[in-house]
Amino acid sequence: KMLEGSLDINIEHLVFQYEEDSRKILDNLSLTIPQGEKLAVLGRSGSGKSTLASLIRGDLVPTSGSVQLAGVATEQIGDVISEYIGVIQQTPYLFHTTILNNLRIGNEQAEIAEVWEVLQRVGLEQLVKGLPDGLDTMVDEAGLRFSGGERHRMALARILLKDTPIVLLDEPTVGLDPITEQALIDTFFEQLTGKTIIWITHHLQGIEKMQRVVFIEDGQLEMSGTPAEL
Ligand code: ATP
Ligand code: MG
Repeated sequence: KMLEGSLDINIEHLVFQYEEDSRKILDNLSLTIPQGEKLAVLGRSGSGKSTLASLIRGDLVPTSGSVQLAGVATEQIGDVISEYIGVIQQTPYLFHTTILNNLRIGNEQAEIAEVWEVLQRVGLEQLVKGLPDGLDTMVDEAGLRFSGGERHRMALARILLKDTPIVLLDEPTVGLDPITEQALIDTFFEQLTGKTIIWITHHLQGIEKMQRVVFIEDGQLEMSGTPAEL
């Protein structure tokens, strides 16, 4: 393993601009996320939440300041970071290959029994069992064989197979109907117990399950507290 010790995320005086001379999307933002914390990140559309997520993942490089995971700058960790941080985005990406291959991305060794167990945990076992080709069913280009909620469950299954200690949820339930959304949130938090969860969200549904809520505005943390305080 490349990283040692506690997998805390340390963000210090983070400034980020997409281009020189352009607006500072994040402007001197500092935040520590201890390993195991369940944190909700709120903020208006365009406030920089997804940008922050990309910086945490090391996909973007700070203009100044730093983002560290276990004391190492995330942009220097490289591809290995995917062993530590799993991401579920608004539109989870499924590849044009079998369901099994889609689930094994990042964990090619996963045993079939393990795959079924995870499908059961995310509530997709019956669906996949009911397909004539089961795990060997081809997922079409856009993953359109699956509904939005099912795609998210697939993404969650992938992360559970990889067993990353940190999970970043970037508005994973946007566009779903309220009942599907609630069911999905319940599954997420039930299955991700013990992991660090960074949950980027627009609204307050499910927020009481988090230990801390931060609010981004004008590139900075405007508020921070427990769900009850907000
Ligand atoms: P939403 O809630 O709508 O997802 P957000 O808080 O995630 O919004 P970001 O996607 O981080 O917001 O975007 C923050 C700002 O950065 C926006 O003004 C956006 O237009 C800008 N931005 C995002 N991506 C890029 C990019 N690749 N190049 C230039 N500007 C960008
Ligand atoms: Mg976003």
